[in-house]
Amino acid sequence: MATIDSLPPLRDVIATHDLKARKSLGQNFLLDLNLTAKIARQAGDLTDVDVLEIGPGPGGLTRGLLSEGARKVLAIEKDARCLPALDEIAAAYPGRLQIIEGDALDIDPLEHLRAPIRVAANLPYNVGTELLVRWLTPPDWPPFWQSLTLMFQREVAERIVAVPGSKAYGRLALLAQWRADANIVLSLTPEAFTPPPKVSSAVVHLTALPAPRFEADALVLNRVVAAAFNQRRKMLRSALKGFAPDIEDRLHAAGIKPTERAEQVSLEGFCALARAVAAG
Ligand code: SAM
Repeated sequence: MATIDSLPPLRDVIATHDLKARKSLGQNFLLDLNLTAKIARQAGDLTDVDVLEIGPGPGGLTRGLLSEGARKVLAIEKDARCLPALDEIAAAYPGRLQIIEGDALDIDPLEHLRAPIRVAANLPYNVGTELLVRWLTPPDWPPFWQSLTLMFQREVAERIVAVPGSKAYGRLALLAQWRADANIVLSLTPEAFTPPPKVSSAVVHLTALPAPRFEADALVLNRVVAAAFNQRRKMLRSALKGFAPDIEDRLHAAGIKPTERAEQVSLEGFCALARAVAAG
């Protein structure tokens, strides 16, 4: 197999450091360095860019990001067993790889990064979704990142890019598409991973828009959308009943029929509703 750097193949790295994948940490490793370099290229031109990578594991994607020219990679990994393998990569790319051991949900990476910043990760899906929602919902916009290039279960990736009226349409689609362009850029079969997961995966690339597509308060929009899709089969007038006693009037003010269901309402409609709800 062709390689992208002078370091050993990932199968050897895993054998040397005895990195048997642990299910509890969602470990499904990518061992094909041509594939990890291809994923790194989806993150865009990395020259003069700092990259935040969550969950580097044995370092396949990390090596892809560095070989594609990232100015610096900050890699946050929860599994201490991976650190010796990551230290070897750091030695091969002097001054360009910083590794932090810990849970990405508890660590603020910003003090270690310099703009412009892009994010790339192949993460366990639960952590990935939680981080995605955090990255999409800061109170102010634009965010610290220019783009996010993230591996998800195919089904989650489809929820991020879904359009109104589809089964996959919901909170993830609305939060992502409100403030970013979101596209599926690569599809992967389970065999791409070691060990293979049960389901297919896909890489989603999100580019931050300079400003949200429609005006709305992030917190209010997030709450309205969560409540609307929590009971997605109900008409909005009953799904959002607890929100305001005059919710029917507010739905009308936003141009939405109170008898509509959440999955029929566009992003523009939800933003209008968030403004109507916030109007006091
Ligand atoms: N990036 C590597 C690759 O593509 O081969 C590993 C991917 S594996 C799906 C997910 C990685 O995330 C594992 O190395 C795991 O230990 C790490 N991880 C899991 N939960 C994490 C968390 N909360 N914070 C940081 N890393 C985490």
